[in-house]
Amino acid sequence: MDFLIRTKMKKEELIKHKTPFYCYDLELLSQTLDEAQAHAKKHDYHIHYAMKANTNDRILKLIQSKGFSSDCVSGNEVKKALEIGFKPNQIAFAGVGKSDEEIMIGLENEIFTFNCESVEEIEVINELAEQKGKIARIALRLNPNVDAKTHKYITTGLEENKFGINSWELDNLIEKIGSWKHIKLTGLHFHIGSQITSMTPFKNLCIRVNELNTWFSERGIRIEHLNLGGGLGIDYQNPTENPIPDFELFFGVFKQFLEPRPHQEVHFELGRSLVGNCGSLISKVLFIKKGIKTNFAILDAGMTELIRPALYQASHSIENLTSESRESEFYDVVGPICESSDCFGKKIELKETKRGDYIKIHSTGAYGEVMTSGYNLREQNPVVYINE
Ligand SMILES: *Cc1c(COP(=O)(O)O)cnc(C)c1O
Repeated sequence: MDFLIRTKMKKEELIKHKTPFYCYDLELLSQTLDEAQAHAKKHDYHIHYAMKANTNDRILKLIQSKGFSSDCVSGNEVKKALEIGFKPNQIAFAGVGKSDEEIMIGLENEIFTFNCESVEEIEVINELAEQKGKIARIALRLNPNVDAKTHKYITTGLEENKFGINSWELDNLIEKIGSWKHIKLTGLHFHIGSQITSMTPFKNLCIRVNELNTWFSERGIRIEHLNLGGGLGIDYQNPTENPIPDFELFFGVFKQFLEPRPHQEVHFELGRSLVGNCGSLISKVLFIKKGIKTNFAILDAGMTELIRPALYQASHSIENLTSESRESEFYDVVGPICESSDCFGKKIELKETKRGDYIKIHSTGAYGEVMTSGYNLREQNPVVYINE
């Protein structure tokens, strides 16, 4: 597979840019998108890109140009999607707490669907739609109570989580549905979590969705689309060997276990699996500090650039790009921020590392740049694109 052999940035090129900076490989992104589309199209599946993973303009434009729809979780993401060129009928709007102002943005633009997470939310959308003289298309985000077997902070499909409508609320909801004159129920929506690398949770999801789909059809409610959400994980440990997730396997599970009715469209909302591996964070070593048990490699990037390790105990593959040493050593790779959680990894094996070396933190295309902050009054440097 020739996409594995890609030009690395030359040292002369590297040192031109102020560190730390995000670097995106647009060719890898393009190949990942093509691969995802090809396998989805085989089964007539529609993919919405979950914008919250990365809202960089060039990335969004490439994704839009390849025929993806969009999945938004805020009013500003809906506006951004429209600016980039996504059509209103390609926009799904999810989120457990949509403000009235955000709902209005969706109504004014007549988006494809609001993915609704509670009866109270549907009541508010109905009222606001009445004021606007609109009919809002909605999907019910149902909590399938399926364990995604991922980190607890990125598990969303269990009854203990804040997301979705629980099954015991459905009878009540169905009784009210006829009275909401400005609501058209068109879909069922599910999203069980993120960075899911085993296919078993997706199989379990299919089984639960089939039951719920039958429940609705038995009550004479016509559902036009099933939205299975996102969550497919990437290989953070071996990003160079496995840059592109196995979309064939992923969609194959749904093909095998999901039973949509002949008229029903099947939608997905992929974020991380589309953009995760095309990004890296490039940083420079400021100091090496000898500790009691370990050496610290102190970088000029910290949790203000990449918060995933501090927030989710995530680990990214880390590489010294410029050391010419043949020896390797173990380092705790840390940032400069005044927090002990500002650590990218403990006991990381790197080529012998010294002040001024360039360090690459792999697989930071998803939930990286979008989560940067100005804590400690830090500023973010311009992004660099390669393989354009
Ligand atoms: C975050 C999110 C996604 C995307 O999740 P990934 O793990 O990045 O694929 C999809 N749908 C909803 C509702 C989300 O909140």
